[in-house]
Amino acid sequence: MASSTNIKVVCRFRPPNALELREGGDIVVAFDENLQTVQMKNSQAVSGPEKDGFTFDRVFPMGTKQHEVFDYGVKDIVKDVLDGYNGTVFAYGQTGSGKTFTMMGADIDSSDLKGIIPRITEQIFKSIVESDSHLEYVVKVSYLEIYLERIRDLLAPQNDNLQVHEEKSRGVYVKNLSDYYVSSAREVYEIMRQGGAARVVTSTNMNAESSRSHSIFLITIQQRNTETGAQKSGNLYLVDLAGSEKVGKTGASGQTLEEAKKINKSLSALGMVINALTDSKVKHIPYRDSKLTRILQESLGGNSRTTLIINCSPSQYNESETLSTLRFGIRAKSIKNTARVNAELSPLELKGLLSKAQLANTRHLSYIQSLEAELAIWRAGGHVEPSEWTSADKPTTGAAAAKKATSSPTLSTTRSMTPVNPILEGLRSEIIIDSRPQTPTVVGLDKDEREEFLRRENELSDQLAERESLLNAAEKLTKELREELAYLKEQEAAASKENKSMSTQLNELRLQVERLDYDNKEGIITIDILKEQNQDAKSELEELKKVITDLRSTQRDASAEDKEKRKQEKMALMMAKFDAQGTFSEKDEQLRQLLAKLDTIDTADALSTLSVDDIVAARRQLTESHSLVRETVDRLRQSQEENEMVTRRRDELEARFLSLEADYEELLEKTIHDEETSNADIVESMAEFKNKLEMQYAAKRDANISEVADLKQQLELKSNEIRTLNASIDSLKSVNEELKV
Ligand code: ADP
Repeated sequence: MASSTNIKVVCRFRPPNALELREGGDIVVAFDENLQTVQMKNSQAVSGPEKDGFTFDRVFPMGTKQHEVFDYGVKDIVKDVLDGYNGTVFAYGQTGSGKTFTMMGADIDSSDLKGIIPRITEQIFKSIVESDSHLEYVVKVSYLEIYLERIRDLLAPQNDNLQVHEEKSRGVYVKNLSDYYVSSAREVYEIMRQGGAARVVTSTNMNAESSRSHSIFLITIQQRNTETGAQKSGNLYLVDLAGSEKVGKTGASGQTLEEAKKINKSLSALGMVINALTDSKVKHIPYRDSKLTRILQESLGGNSRTTLIINCSPSQYNESETLSTLRFGIRAKSIKNTARVNAELSPLELKGLLSKAQLANTRHLSYIQSLEAELAIWRAGGHVEPSEWTSADKPTTGAAAAKKATSSPTLSTTRSMTPVNPILEGLRSEIIIDSRPQTPTVVGLDKDEREEFLRRENELSDQLAERESLLNAAEKLTKELREELAYLKEQEAAASKENKSMSTQLNELRLQVERLDYDNKEGIITIDILKEQNQDAKSELEELKKVITDLRSTQRDASAEDKEKRKQEKMALMMAKFDAQGTFSEKDEQLRQLLAKLDTIDTADALSTLSVDDIVAARRQLTESHSLVRETVDRLRQSQEENEMVTRRRDELEARFLSLEADYEELLEKTIHDEETSNADIVESMAEFKNKLEMQYAAKRDANISEVADLKQQLELKSNEIRTLNASIDSLKSVNEELKV
């Protein structure tokens, strides 16, 4: 039930993309009629046998439909997996060459555009439905991603460092990878979507959609024959490899460059494995060099029916990548796999094996008995002829005639093997109880050693995973601490800078404080001086006030004290004035003479003595006197009014003076207070203030003095005037009285 076949390699070209069309890249590939050979039109690019083209199992030119790729390249694998074989389909090619388009398709739900994986899924369930009724199937799916050499469970993304284990009975598998039982294509799609969302996708300028990771979708189908109880299980690996392009072309940098290196490491390990598998001289196949090759171990040179789909661009723009992809395909094409059914034995088969084992056991027992018998002879000092010595193929000695056994049989497996690979040949020459071939890795070990090796390897791999997790945690912590350190350093630098500037500021402030302290002291001294000056000014003001009060009282005394005297004086003055004018005195004199004349004569002869002229003159004088008196009275009233006005004005001025004085004092207090409370620039402001104050004070004092002087003068004048007028009024009144009498 084993069949040795070459890996099937098909080559698919996608149509030129927009970038290639824009760059004016011509189509540089040509296909033969049989659709098996691709020829590079540019003969300079190729040399030697490559000039004749690259021949594959099938070439799919641009425009090939999805179902054509499936029908030719993959459909048969599904049937094999259902029959218990392992199958692998993997897509290789540069980013943007159509790997995902081929594997998953542009649209799962479109019958035209869906890719290989959905078609396989549908095919599986269709085949199950159509299968014999005595066959039962169980289908499980898993989805994983290899990203930066770490295996991540896409259906449980928190498990991102899974380990590859190998056991004799199970072969190579990913430990703790979750799997889901599925019963329809729809359920599979749901899981694909779920896993797809967890994939790591990094944008590069080659194809923003392209993944930089390898993804493996695993479908396990277990078949059970309800009639015989025989079980088979087949694993189908569907692998979408990361882009195979060179780092330079992606324009990647930073983490993406790291990614590219690691991805290239996985891909170069894949290339190395392929090279080793196709070179009969190479004994060691470096599967363990990368996670990818370790998982694909059974798919490459092992127990699997494998189809490799190489995806290429037909455009000149990507010519070199296309060429390297074609070369990869050609190398892979010569790998031979020996796929065998992964069967679990039915009770009947087990019974057969048991009877064979029992037979062997009996044979071994008889051999042991023969040996013991011979040993007993030797120990007893006896001798056994060499021809009688017990041997494995001749357990009966001459001494101890044991039952003759047939030659030791080799336990045969239920299946024949056709080893092809020289390395595998050695391994598979062992007696194998189960149907699984050993992986072609551990060379030159016997069965027990091999099992021990695998057990130890698994153990170490688990330990490695643990250490890796610890390392990761430590790295994360280191990174965090580094960041924190950097942050703290930054802060420290900023703080010390701030500190520096603050200490400069502090020094400046200290200086300022000292200066202010000094200024303050000076200010206090100045305030003291000003206070003294203020005191002086106040006393001066007091003196002035006193002078004014004195003046006022003098003025009051002058009017009240000697009214009589003043009257007389006024009279005298008035008279003097009138005398000076000559009007009153003359008239007065004339009138007095006339009166004297009248007094001296009798009334009888009054008329005779008084001449007419006298009477006329007297009358006229009287009239004149009257008008003069009236005039004088008017003038007097006028003068009194003026006097009152002047007095009022004086009172007003005095009140204003007093209020100004109060204002001034208040202002002075306030200014001193203000100056005392604010110490800033106290010296200057004090000096200024002092000057201002002095100036204000001087101006005010001058104004007051001149005003007082002015008032005094005016008062004097008015008093004089009043005095004169009063005197003249009095004299006129008396004259008038006399005349009336
Ligand atoms: P990869 O997985 O190799 O990075 P993709 O499968 O994402 O590349 O393909 C890149 C682009 O080219 C996508 O937009 C895809 O739809 C388109 N494409 C790829 N192959 C074909 C094809 N055979 N026919 C039409 N379009 C294709």
